[in-house]
Amino acid sequence: MAEKFKRWAGFDPHSQYVRNYIDSSNMKAAMCMSFFVMFVEAWMILRTFAIILFKIENRSQEWIRTHMCLYVVMLIIATTMFVFSYRYLRVKKRSHKTVMIWVSIYSLISATFGIYVSFLDYTKGEQILSFITMVLFVECLIVWRPYVSFVILTASFGVFYALCASAFPATVATKINLFTTWVAAIMISVSNYNQRLNEAQKDQGLEEISTHDELTGISNMRHFRKRAQFMLQNAFEHERTLTFMFFDIENFKTYNERYGFIRGNELLCKMAVAIKDEFAVGETARLSDDHFVALVDEEEYAYEKHIENLNRTLKELEGDTYLRLRVGIYHTEGMKKDGSEPEDINLLCDRARFAAGSIKQMADVSYCIYDEKLHEQQRRKRYIISHLDNAVVDGHIQVYYQPIIDAETGKVCSLEALARWNDPVYGLLSPGEFIEALEEFRLIHKLDKYVVDLVCGDIRDELENGKHPLPVSVNLSRLDFELCDIAKIIIDTTKGLDRKYLVIEVTESALSMNQSQLGDAVGKLREEGFSVWLDDFGSGYSSLNVLKDYSFDLLKIDMRFLEGFGKNENLRPILETIIELCEVLNMKALAEGVETQQEYDFLKSIGCDRVQGYLFSKPVTRVDLKTMFNEGKLPV
Ligand code: C2E
Ligand code: MG
Ligand code: MG
Repeated sequence: MAEKFKRWAGFDPHSQYVRNYIDSSNMKAAMCMSFFVMFVEAWMILRTFAIILFKIENRSQEWIRTHMCLYVVMLIIATTMFVFSYRYLRVKKRSHKTVMIWVSIYSLISATFGIYVSFLDYTKGEQILSFITMVLFVECLIVWRPYVSFVILTASFGVFYALCASAFPATVATKINLFTTWVAAIMISVSNYNQRLNEAQKDQGLEEISTHDELTGISNMRHFRKRAQFMLQNAFEHERTLTFMFFDIENFKTYNERYGFIRGNELLCKMAVAIKDEFAVGETARLSDDHFVALVDEEEYAYEKHIENLNRTLKELEGDTYLRLRVGIYHTEGMKKDGSEPEDINLLCDRARFAAGSIKQMADVSYCIYDEKLHEQQRRKRYIISHLDNAVVDGHIQVYYQPIIDAETGKVCSLEALARWNDPVYGLLSPGEFIEALEEFRLIHKLDKYVVDLVCGDIRDELENGKHPLPVSVNLSRLDFELCDIAKIIIDTTKGLDRKYLVIEVTESALSMNQSQLGDAVGKLREEGFSVWLDDFGSGYSSLNVLKDYSFDLLKIDMRFLEGFGKNENLRPILETIIELCEVLNMKALAEGVETQQEYDFLKSIGCDRVQGYLFSKPVTRVDLKTMFNEGKLPV
């Protein structure tokens, strides 16, 4: 109740937004009012001149002098107020205090003018409309807090009544009329105030929705873009360099899974506020999910210290998970060249994000600055994405084959198909480069479908020529299972072919994705008679879990197990154990990356079924492979 009354009477505090809104509304009212007063006073001055010149009315010199003075003073005051309010609305906002001082002085003068003129009229037995008009203008058109309105109106009416009564006593009717006008004026001003306040608060709500991120309360991208565009234009004109930062909370998904969405959201809110506080000199916003951006107008900004602080905050919040802030930094070009444009905000975002992405696997690096090297990498990536279809049509993508050796006999028992992109612009692109880009942009299934097509074509060729082709394994990306019905595509492509010729390699990371979808596809392919191999075993995080839930025909032991062979004492027992595990689970074992005879001998001695590596052959073209076989370099 008390709260309600406080609000109704205008004792509650106003937000900055509401204050600005009411100031603006008051300035508009003051501008209209002063324009009207200017018009009336100018007309009165002209009329008085006409009285002097043409002696229209019989007025004394005294009357003319007093009134002329009054009109001129009011004209000057109204003009000053008009100019002030016009400048406030069009050119430059002033502080709330300045606005209140101007409005109060103007209101006081206007009310005094109204009281004085009407008092003169009253003493001559005329109407008192000047007073009523001025009071309505300054107390009802301009918005005051209700308790202020009450004070001003009571004072104005009181002074006016006292003045009039001192001249000669008012009639009962006049007293009643004055009283009702006073009550009406208070009611109008209170209702005007409440209406304005509601409008302002509603507007503030809408403004907040459109400029703030719903979850974290910091700026959203729409608002950020507007502010950043302004900063960019400014920096461009003054040839200054800005620093743009992109933040990504690495491993946030795990945190969400472990602690649930509510705590995940709480963490995002805390980080948002921390980022906003840390970069308070500039603009910050939430871009999406766990991604944030900041823009500061300083090239030599000490971002290192701020990033360290943010990482410290993150460490306090991470709980049992491992969280890390990954930051990409881009310095704008800054230089103003004739005819050039300031940089686009999307471009800044793109570059800083790319820089952040480039340190994905580096646990000891928390930020990266976008430079020429990254620029070149990004260009190549873009090129790969936009030229995949052409590369397929123009035959720039080829299949190289790497032999797989039966460890026991030392003879080639199958081949692995590995994609190569021989580009007219960039030359030979490595799978390490284009596979990652195609996966990132979810285009990898196009390549894999094409490779399966090429491999099946080669096998059919061999069969038609009366040869006995070797089985070929193709690599499938984890995303293939999400992006298309890869099992169906493989079944369709191999129609009429014996299933033993095509082998499927699935990487371990594939299994950390959509488990059931992938499990179904693997099961379907095995039922159809294809061999399905688990590639790069041991390179991921859930190797043993994978074996618990899925069945494979063969396990490809990741080549990193052989790195440091001969130096690392632990390697041998680990490899032995993996091979034993394969035996228990009824799977064959294949070791990748065999480069030395020593490695080969050891693998053979512990019962590894197959081996693959540079010791036998690098991946080569189909033609080179044939030559190698024909020359007897590799027994088949
Ligand atoms: P992966 O399937 O594990 O293929 C083995 C990679 O190891 C190949 O690299 C091969 O050239 C290399 N390699 C073989 N023996 C040795 C050795 O003795 N020493 C060393 N240092 N390396 C050896 P490549 O061809 O660059 O392929 C890299 C990865 O790209 C492949 O790893 C595979 O995951 C992926 N990839 C290649 N082609 C395709 C494709 O058509 N589709 C998909 N989805 N992925 C592919
Ligand atoms: Mg492979
Ligand atoms: Mg592999």
